[in-house]
Amino acid sequence: MTHRKNNETTHNEYCSFCGSSRKQVGVLFKGEGGCNICDACLERGHEMIAEMRQKQKEALPFKQEELMKPAEMKAFLDHYVIGQEEAKRFLSVAVYNHYKRLLHRQKLAAAGKEVKDEVELDKSNIVLVGPTGTGKTLMARTIARLLQVPFTIVDATVLTEAGYVGEDVESILSRLLQVADYDVTQAERGIVFIDEIDKIARKGDNPSITRDVSGEGVQQALLKLLEGTVVNVPPQGGRKHPDQKFIQVNTRNILFICGGAFDGIERKIAQRLNTRAVGYGQMQRATIDRQNLMQYVTPQDLKSFGLIPELVGRLPVLTFMRPLTRESLRSILTEPKNSIIRQYKSLFAMDGVELEFDNEVLDYIVDKAIEFKLGARGLRSICEGIMVDAMYDLPSSGQSEFRVTLDYARSKIESNQSLKAS
Ligand code: ADP
Repeated sequence: MTHRKNNETTHNEYCSFCGSSRKQVGVLFKGEGGCNICDACLERGHEMIAEMRQKQKEALPFKQEELMKPAEMKAFLDHYVIGQEEAKRFLSVAVYNHYKRLLHRQKLAAAGKEVKDEVELDKSNIVLVGPTGTGKTLMARTIARLLQVPFTIVDATVLTEAGYVGEDVESILSRLLQVADYDVTQAERGIVFIDEIDKIARKGDNPSITRDVSGEGVQQALLKLLEGTVVNVPPQGGRKHPDQKFIQVNTRNILFICGGAFDGIERKIAQRLNTRAVGYGQMQRATIDRQNLMQYVTPQDLKSFGLIPELVGRLPVLTFMRPLTRESLRSILTEPKNSIIRQYKSLFAMDGVELEFDNEVLDYIVDKAIEFKLGARGLRSICEGIMVDAMYDLPSSGQSEFRVTLDYARSKIESNQSLKAS
């Protein structure tokens, strides 16, 4: 296609699309075979292509029939997350319902039907209550990977009410946009994991003179986001929009999964169970598993802990994580698809070395993780302590196999000062 200036006008020069003459248009582009197109038609064409592409993008990466059923989602989670049966079931159902709701809206929109005539399906934001290091983040991350939607983790402790030192809640969406590579449509159906939600609990029942800008203030700010609203998001570090001040993001279809240890919530649960057990509930009392009170957690307990009722209301799916037992720690070492032991084996295999661990070594690693009170997070650092010398020496040794024995593991851990200190 060639482009000539206006003053080069020759006869019969019209836009082949709208029929305007060269004099009537800004620029007329000449094509082969006497075909021309004016700037206005070109721009319109460009808009139509952009609209078409946007429509294609709005479709979720899967169709209703392709959306995994809750049981299939749980089976997928089982490959990566050990135990936590109740939480996996709750999460699978909530995520399934959430994306089913999205797909339904998408179908209605495609058929040109009004969404508002339909039964409005509420959003199923989730809250996971349980000790740190038990797999809350892992579950959220795994489900996002399964669905191939943008996923980000934010720490509630860095959030403050707008205008105070710290991050505004809008920063959550900036991060989601970043991972979606500034594709707003993608970001708008992503998953956000808000960690340490318990840390923004109300600081006490007494209204203090100073404002609670990192507690209740943040809870208030989160409300709208969780429910669904259009937010003006500053595109922090946005390469693609250097001149644009804000990007509008609608949070209606973003799934929020919140996690928190809620240290001390067992006391609130116990209090509630005790009061209820008086009188008509005597029978129930005997069946309460006092060692694992977390399993009885209700929205009411989150309120007693210091979450404002409105926020609790916007987190309708509540489930709990169990503390990891010795057996679960042992399984975490070897069973998940990307378990720590499998990762080491494949790292060594890349150097042509077959790696073997004696069973006692695995038990020893678990014992040390318990001794150092490091939980599942500690398994990795203990393994690293055992394996670092081998990872240093083996690539240049020409050896084709390596067996980690209990004596070897013990000697490495005992000589590792940093692990001892922790
Ligand atoms: P949380 O969010 O509950 O504090 P994480 O999900 O961050 O805990 O867990 C930390 C790490 O511990 C994970 O990356 C994973 O390697 C391991 N882990 C914890 N719980 C489990 C579990 N139930 N199954 C498999 N791995 C786990």
